[in-house]
Amino acid sequence: MPDDARPVTSRFAPSPTGFLHLGHVHSCLFAVNAAKQGNGRFLLRIEDIDPNRCRPEYEVMLKEDLAWLGFRWDEPVRRQSEHMDDYAAALVTLAARHVTYPCFCSRKEITAEIAQAGNAPHLVAMGPEGPLYPGNCRHLPPDVAAARVAAGEPHAIRLDVRKATTLTGPLSWHDRGRGTITADTGLLGDIVLARRDVRTSYHLSVTVDDAIQGVTLVTRGEDLFHATHVHRLLQALLGLPVPDYHHHGLLLNARGERLSKRDGATGIRTLRAQGVSPAEILRRAASGAEG
Ligand code: GLU
Repeated sequence: MPDDARPVTSRFAPSPTGFLHLGHVHSCLFAVNAAKQGNGRFLLRIEDIDPNRCRPEYEVMLKEDLAWLGFRWDEPVRRQSEHMDDYAAALVTLAARHVTYPCFCSRKEITAEIAQAGNAPHLVAMGPEGPLYPGNCRHLPPDVAAARVAAGEPHAIRLDVRKATTLTGPLSWHDRGRGTITADTGLLGDIVLARRDVRTSYHLSVTVDDAIQGVTLVTRGEDLFHATHVHRLLQALLGLPVPDYHHHGLLLNARGERLSKRDGATGIRTLRAQGVSPAEILRRAASGAEG
């Protein structure tokens, strides 16, 4: 069956780190419209793996604002913090493929390392989000790394992207806006799969969840386009189905810049308090949300 004929399951996956704003509504509309056009399902997922930044009260307000705007989603809502076992299982699978390694570097050490290498710029690989992890712990002898883990030293788990890509060979994916994309799996370097403090990461949990929830069309902002390259690699390593993707443009302010908190009245709570109707908010959020 061609991809466009599959019944669509789309999702909106906010992190409850603040109030719902017009940018969220734009993204949610995009996912809802995609599900409608595909006679499909629309899911809501709460991406709350970071206990330092996520608050249950934000989740309550996000859902309440979405419902007030008229959005409906298929239940149950998946809350990532309740599915750590799924991410742990994926880590076991990846470890069994010998494409992971423990990383003991603190953020400070990584920054210092990059700054030092910055004197020889050809040594610092740059990614779309800044300099890439220089790879110190990738070179640790396995017995040394294992002893440090056994001794209880705090560590993250990273993906050895080069090794992983050798296993999978070339990969590609389909973006409904941009066509066939060849995966540039090294774009983000050796990504973190499990953080020191939280035993998963954005990349791992999103990839696992989209597969578990049967998402066939991942819609999200184009600011996350680069992440899809490495999600495609994780899918190949974990034997997961490959959804279609559609990255949408971001809502811009009058100056053509990405909306931010500085733009004032973009918070749905604020607009509600000003008496702005759901229909008007949806109209403001709709530009470019047609896919
Ligand atoms: N939770 C992410 C965010 O709020 C979105 C993740 C995704 O759609 O893949 O930006």
